[in-house]
Amino acid sequence: MPRRRSGLALAMLAGLLAGGAARVGAQEPALIAIRAGRLVDVERGEVRRDQVVLIRGDRIAAVQPASAKIPSGARIIDLSRFTVLPGLIDCHTHLIGDIQSADVLLPLERSEAQETFSGVRNARATLLAGFTTVRDVGTYRAFVDVALRDAIDDGTVVGPRMRVPGAYVTVSTGAGELVGAAPDVTIPFSYRFGVANSADEVRARVRAILNGGADFVKILATGAVLTRGTKPGVSEYTEEQIRAAVEQAAEYGTYVAAHAHGAEGIKRAVRAGVRSIEHGSLIDDEGIALMKERGTWFVADIYNGDYTDSVGRLQQWPADILRKNEETTETQRAGFRKAVAAGVRIAYGTDSGVYPHGMNAMQLPYMVKHGMTPMQATQSATISAAQLMQWEDRVGSIAPGKYADIIAVEGDALADLRSLMKVGFVMKGGVVYKGRESP
Ligand SMILES: [Zn+2]
Repeated sequence: MPRRRSGLALAMLAGLLAGGAARVGAQEPALIAIRAGRLVDVERGEVRRDQVVLIRGDRIAAVQPASAKIPSGARIIDLSRFTVLPGLIDCHTHLIGDIQSADVLLPLERSEAQETFSGVRNARATLLAGFTTVRDVGTYRAFVDVALRDAIDDGTVVGPRMRVPGAYVTVSTGAGELVGAAPDVTIPFSYRFGVANSADEVRARVRAILNGGADFVKILATGAVLTRGTKPGVSEYTEEQIRAAVEQAAEYGTYVAAHAHGAEGIKRAVRAGVRSIEHGSLIDDEGIALMKERGTWFVADIYNGDYTDSVGRLQQWPADILRKNEETTETQRAGFRKAVAAGVRIAYGTDSGVYPHGMNAMQLPYMVKHGMTPMQATQSATISAAQLMQWEDRVGSIAPGKYADIIAVEGDALADLRSLMKVGFVMKGGVVYKGRESP
């Protein structure tokens, strides 16, 4: 099985890079037993003491109390001083390319190979930070995300499991466009693959994107903070045009995620039937009620406004970007708090790529500060995220039959979610990528 072998070789490499002692050899025992001092059961919303997780191959076989017998021959990994959690999930990353800056044409200054290798670096950083799955939400250069997803799946690249949208569905000069070039400069087609200006065009681009290997559709329903010129509060698609994307995606058995800051754009997207609202910075009470009623997921990146503000000032970014960031950061947090109180379904998404990859856990304490319990915040980044991605059958909790995607941090993680910034152990699909094994 070549795929298994290459996965193991990469795991060994990842273990060495992480300074850990992942012992990988030809005689890998089929069974692993993880002793967990604390085990976070995100399905029941409780932490259980002294449990053992049994792993066979890439799947979880059983969860049992420490007092129960461990089958002979099992390789034991002792995490009894640790809190053991399901691998975390970030539903809003941008793994392809360099960190976004005020240099709006940066993607044009880099070759596709450079964009790809940045993606390789970002994928590894994300996995080693304990995020074993991501729903990536886009790249300017179409389909580089599809290639990265496939390279991770076949063991070529170390990274999280990915679901990807292939390209941005956006109006011309809208939030998903590369803007800032001189008017007589033509932006190459590969950056404009998803540009659509009518319901028919939306259908055609959605078809092309899904035929190209995307897993779901990302539509830009309003302007954006970091796309120069566009206005976060301004709607860029009509409800009918967004519905065209939703219906076309449904033909393929998948869904639409809508980037939407403005209150009106949010409501149009929810009414049109999108599965998730991304950002939601200027959401109003009616929008919150509508999302609750429709079961729409809310993916609000409530940390990165602080990052953009501090780095943007330091690097003297254009005033209009800093102003838009300021105008959306605190309103987004207030809206988030109301949505949590109203019982809107929340999934964890950080917009990593706007800030450095590997810091994905930074947002967890922010979510607690803005209305969630530590368990709710943890659920948003595990079981809830898996539900949004329609992957709850394989990831999101430590349960028999699911992938053995498991992380651990020292001490009591839920007492201080900042501890998840220092994940000491990462396993994906039964392979250890970070951490010391025992004995
Ligand atoms: Zn984003």
